[in-house]
Amino acid sequence: MEIIDIQDWGLGLSEHVLIAGPCSAESAQQVESIAKGLRGSNIEMFRAGVWKPRTRPGSFEGIGTEALEWINNAKDILNVPVTVEVANTAHVEAALKANIDVLWIGARTTVNPFSVQEICEALKGTDIPVMVKNPINPDLQLWIGAIERLNKVGIKKVAGIHRGFSDPYEKRYRNKPEWSMPIHLKRMLPGISVVCDPSHICGTREIIASVSQRAINFGLDGLMIETHHDPDNAWSDAKQQITPDMLKIIYENLSFRETLDKHPEAINELDEYRQKIDLVDTQLIELLADRFQIIKQIGEYKQKHNLAVFQPSRWQDVMESRIKSGVQKNMTEKFMKSFLFAVHEESVKTQEAQLKEGKH
Ligand code: PEP
Ligand code: MN
Repeated sequence: MEIIDIQDWGLGLSEHVLIAGPCSAESAQQVESIAKGLRGSNIEMFRAGVWKPRTRPGSFEGIGTEALEWINNAKDILNVPVTVEVANTAHVEAALKANIDVLWIGARTTVNPFSVQEICEALKGTDIPVMVKNPINPDLQLWIGAIERLNKVGIKKVAGIHRGFSDPYEKRYRNKPEWSMPIHLKRMLPGISVVCDPSHICGTREIIASVSQRAINFGLDGLMIETHHDPDNAWSDAKQQITPDMLKIIYENLSFRETLDKHPEAINELDEYRQKIDLVDTQLIELLADRFQIIKQIGEYKQKHNLAVFQPSRWQDVMESRIKSGVQKNMTEKFMKSFLFAVHEESVKTQEAQLKEGKH
């Protein structure tokens, strides 16, 4: 796959892109006053939703094509490229006709390969940049699949937007961040930029600053933050939007770490630590392999004496004692639990397979 870096889209975007603007375009005046409020911020792209995919019917579903003109007005005010969400052929055609600079595919669309394909067909023959939000569910393959579909019709200017994942048990965030997902996407698709959308991750404005900082710490390539001149009265996503002034403060307080290529001396020092880590990992793998070897011996014994694979009381003891030792050595209970569960699950599987083989 050939992916053109966001900095090479010809739109003057930096290594820390800041995209801002309202969840929805509501009126010409609203778009204009937000754009004016954003003057003097570090904004590099203006966003606004024109067609809104709402969970329940009856909510405000966007102004539609008419609002594209207002967004182009924001472009004149701020002198930055503008972006809107598209979900079908009609949206793409209207956005292209209005000379919108960048399109994005929303989380509810990325989940559906039919819709993504429809958008791709409508984009054939253009080279407009497209940003793809992660699907609502934490499925990396769907996210990659949508990007691949775009690439297949010749769209090489692609980026990801990390907006978190739906999880019914999640209390703190509107959409759970699952930071490993954008990081894996960057590993799987070298050269792709991933912008974080803290607004849809957080759902409330109070935690936008801390999630934005985390996105930068994880090495993501920018932020898309919903911004409104009167957030409490916004027609959609009121709780998570912030004013242009708040955005400026949040942005000024972010700490951007220098990338390693600017600090060759750090590479040498880090290399020493990395060699140590490599050694420890090799030992860890050998120890784990030894452990599974013993598990197999136990399996043979259980098979011979017709004993059940799973011995709950033994498992209980193992969990309790190992968690305790781990916590004493400053690892969290949560980590110890998930590590031990993974090891145990693999052990049970190994022994079950032995049992099956023995029966044949
Ligand atoms: C949006 O950006 O306003 C939006 C609808 O986002 P998502 O697709 O991430 O829910
Ligand atoms: Mn929104």
